[in-house]
Amino acid sequence: MALDQSKSNIPLLEVTNLKTHFPIRKGVFSRVSGHVYAVDGVTISMQDGETLGLVGESGSGKSTLGKSIMRLVEPTSGEIKISGTEITGLNKQDMFVHRRQVQMVFQDPYSSLNPRIPVGKIVAEALQIHGIATGKEAEDMVKDIFQRVGLRPSQMRNYANEFSGGQRQRIGIARALALNPKLIIADEPVSALDVSVQAQVINLFMDLQKEYGLSYFFIAHDLAVVAQICHRIAVMYLGKIVEIADRDELFKSPLHPYTRALLASIPIPNPEIRPAKDRVLQGDIPSPSNPPKGCRFHTRCPLVEEKCRIDTPEFKEVSPGHWAACHLT
Ligand code: SF4
Repeated sequence: MALDQSKSNIPLLEVTNLKTHFPIRKGVFSRVSGHVYAVDGVTISMQDGETLGLVGESGSGKSTLGKSIMRLVEPTSGEIKISGTEITGLNKQDMFVHRRQVQMVFQDPYSSLNPRIPVGKIVAEALQIHGIATGKEAEDMVKDIFQRVGLRPSQMRNYANEFSGGQRQRIGIARALALNPKLIIADEPVSALDVSVQAQVINLFMDLQKEYGLSYFFIAHDLAVVAQICHRIAVMYLGKIVEIADRDELFKSPLHPYTRALLASIPIPNPEIRPAKDRVLQGDIPSPSNPPKGCRFHTRCPLVEEKCRIDTPEFKEVSPGHWAACHLT
């Protein structure tokens, strides 16, 4: 999938060695007895107008990474830059300005839509809070945004419970769009939707990208979904990125055994065609509070060797733009 790289040399998003660890507290004195290493040294960057997909099983740390970039959870260490501006040290007031540039769309928009307020008012509130528009001007802007996301302006008066799942996701997208962001972090935005509705919402994301030049950090557990929309794909396992490449390259020549297993798990309509045994993912993802030593994937990897249990593989560029962390690459 081609991407116009000519717009700017400064990446829209630069994440460097980001770690988000959560303390585990135990006993009457809430002593810290360990940590959940949800995000454990992630480095990624993306350009204006790009869609970067992030895939991995549940428990891999994808959502925590998205929320850390939004600073909805505080990273433990590392650096996050938006258009060259470091945001990890920003105070509340400066973060307020930053939040306009980066918006989030959630898997379950219903839980983030106040059921007692008409949905048009929810979107208008975002405009008011950020001092963009109030009153009639805000109402007209919301009408326009509703039409752009495929909702009728008359539906602004309805409440969240009066909409289907797909329509609610359109409202979530409208609320994110209202602030004219540069980057939208979409956290499993179609996972809860029927397949036919998924396609409609993905098409909407793509249309809006063309219209507004938006960039998406698109989180999903399903490679088939990200394949439809992403320019590049990053694969995450137990808090670390294990592979990143252009979409077509990743599908054609996956390097990491975990990526190969994820690809093999994409359902194929013909039951006669089964993935090779060495590509089927065995067992569950280990606990992020006690990740395996060496290569974190070694407890499930069909190609494991002795050194995989001891040495952490370096994340290296194997061919231009194609990075992987595996001793065998
Ligand atoms: Fe498998 Fe070893 Fe590569 Fe890890 S480093 S993915 S265990 S072969």
